[in-house]
Amino acid sequence: MLFLVCKYKNKGGKMRKKFIAGNWKMNKTVDEAKEYASNFKELISEINNIDIVLCAPFTLLPELKNSTQGTNIKLAAQNMYFEDSGAYTGEISPLMIKEFCDYVVVGHSERRKYFNETNSILNKKIKKALVHNIKIIFCCGETLEENESEQTQKVIQKQITEGLSDISKEDLNQMVIAYEPVWAIGTGKTATPELAEDVHSFIRNLISELYDEETSQNLRIIYGGSVKPENIEGLIIKENIDGALPGGASLDPIKFSEIIKKM
Ligand code: PEP
Repeated sequence: MLFLVCKYKNKGGKMRKKFIAGNWKMNKTVDEAKEYASNFKELISEINNIDIVLCAPFTLLPELKNSTQGTNIKLAAQNMYFEDSGAYTGEISPLMIKEFCDYVVVGHSERRKYFNETNSILNKKIKKALVHNIKIIFCCGETLEENESEQTQKVIQKQITEGLSDISKEDLNQMVIAYEPVWAIGTGKTATPELAEDVHSFIRNLISELYDEETSQNLRIIYGGSVKPENIEGLIIKENIDGALPGGASLDPIKFSEIIKKM
């Protein structure tokens, strides 16, 4: 029982199961992914009370689906287009990723920055994923400049309000929100647990205003930005931090499993 209490967040009634997703970004070949999966599934085989997701490049999803079968590891695509099929050269549709994945990442700051994905595009992607019962990891976060000019709350509010426009509270149950301050991604600079908790708490209050208290208490809000084995414990102990989205540290199965075991 003590174990269960430690692994779940219990606020406002319903328990929130912890959630971790490793974002591999544009890394690994099929052989590398296969080797990773065979090591990783052994390392985390005892853990069954945390949702564990690998966000892998499209080309690796078929192999990963095979090599994680029968384990508690779920897969996510890192992106998806908002049409089912058609003349969209180079894009991947929800029907294609659904064959391999339970989740899709929407709104990662690298997609926003390098591929000009706006809140309105992201909203279309979210709606389309929901149509196909694909769960969503929806990312938000401010840049260094926005942070330094104290725009964090304003930016997050806009990203969430516009990204979730016309999304019902039932659909929000299919989503996890990831707060990822852009200045902490891939930089080695993590937000302090206090700073991250402030923003997570702001997001939860915002969801309560946009939906209701119960919906906001049930929503899992995870933190991303240079998460590693050395800093996960300080973060996960916070009331409103329900998990993590490590990038670099998830590329090594040992490091990633160490993070998970410390949650
Ligand atoms: C990310 O890819 O979303 C991320 C947070 O990367 P990193 O952990 O390397 O900062």
